[in-house]
Amino acid sequence: MAEQLTERVFVLPGGTNIGVVIADDGRAVVIDTGLNDTPARKLLRFVREDLKTDIAAIINTHGHADHFGGNAFLVKRTGAPVYAPDLDEMTLRHPLMQPIMLYGGADPADAIRTSFLVAEAGPVDGLVHLGENEIAGVNFAAHSLTGHSMNQLGYVIDDVFFCADVVFPEATLEKYPIPYLYGLTEHLQALEFARGVQARKIVPGHGPILDDINSLVDLNLAAIERVITTILEIVDRPMLADEICQQLFQHMNVTIADAQAYYLLRPTVQAYLAHLERTGALNLIVADASVIWTRR
Ligand SMILES: [Zn+2]
Repeated sequence: MAEQLTERVFVLPGGTNIGVVIADDGRAVVIDTGLNDTPARKLLRFVREDLKTDIAAIINTHGHADHFGGNAFLVKRTGAPVYAPDLDEMTLRHPLMQPIMLYGGADPADAIRTSFLVAEAGPVDGLVHLGENEIAGVNFAAHSLTGHSMNQLGYVIDDVFFCADVVFPEATLEKYPIPYLYGLTEHLQALEFARGVQARKIVPGHGPILDDINSLVDLNLAAIERVITTILEIVDRPMLADEICQQLFQHMNVTIADAQAYYLLRPTVQAYLAHLERTGALNLIVADASVIWTRR
């Protein structure tokens, strides 16, 4: 069931929350489209049957399959143009980029060419840029929430903040104590930035709609702090990144059930290591035909 947040802003809750904004001409602009055809079909039914209108444009928050996977279906059915952040938009057009990046920039093993990581490709018609945007008659502000992805954007429309995956809900943090990250340094800035965004309602990419983001920012920061502390405890001698990963996952009871789970977390740990090197806690040295991490 859709939730109406303001006169013209709706949210369709699901595995990924989808925003629907009614433009001045009565048509709908949607924010993210879910993982695949199934949520996209539900979204189209809601727009056509309940709102009795059509989709004028699709805006994505970032280039992860669970947020743009319904694009291709909706574009075929409605012809709506698609807008996305620079850099992240590449994955919408070339979904294989996601496993390629997770696999360290190489031809990814078949084991990670999964439906969760590789959505159907779709077009991108324009970029959303930082600051004020106007798409299909809807004015909104776009803010950088880089960190969860290379160029994730959050959107403020009326008094509603679509904050994408800058925060994960409590249940997700319990299940996944090390949530996926592209870059920790910028993610920490994005979390602090998100606190200051003025909005009456906050719609995260996953989980319940919030009145206030602060307690969830705190929970997400605490999860990050636990990972940092554990990494620094583990690296009590020079170590390979793979050793750090293995010990970290064991210490934090992270289940690596399949290759996808591993390859989502391997770059996440790399992001932590880069941040810890940048902030002076760790050193990266090259020795014994390898890259080795040490405490500074
Ligand atoms: Zn994401």
